[in-house]
Amino acid sequence: MRVICPHCYSKALITSSNVLCETVKDLYCQCTNTKDCGASFVYKLSHSHDLNPPRQTTIQIASALIKSLPLEERQALQRDMFAS
Ligand SMILES: [Zn+2]
Repeated sequence: MRVICPHCYSKALITSSNVLCETVKDLYCQCTNTKDCGASFVYKLSHSHDLNPPRQTTIQIASALIKSLPLEERQALQRDMFAS
């Protein structure tokens, strides 16, 4: 992960971190441009959203949907899935 100094846009180093909860972390950073800047600052790293659900979640969703079908439709789906 690359962190850029918000003041001079030079590369910064993450010197330490503090976990606020399972999905949010403070990153303590130090600008590497020590000659002209030398700022230290905190970035907040957090989970934003999923692009795809975890595999197990997908299987659980598919399983729940299939189980909600009437028996005849489940059997038809099963026939379709194994026909090739
Ligand atoms: Zn800087």
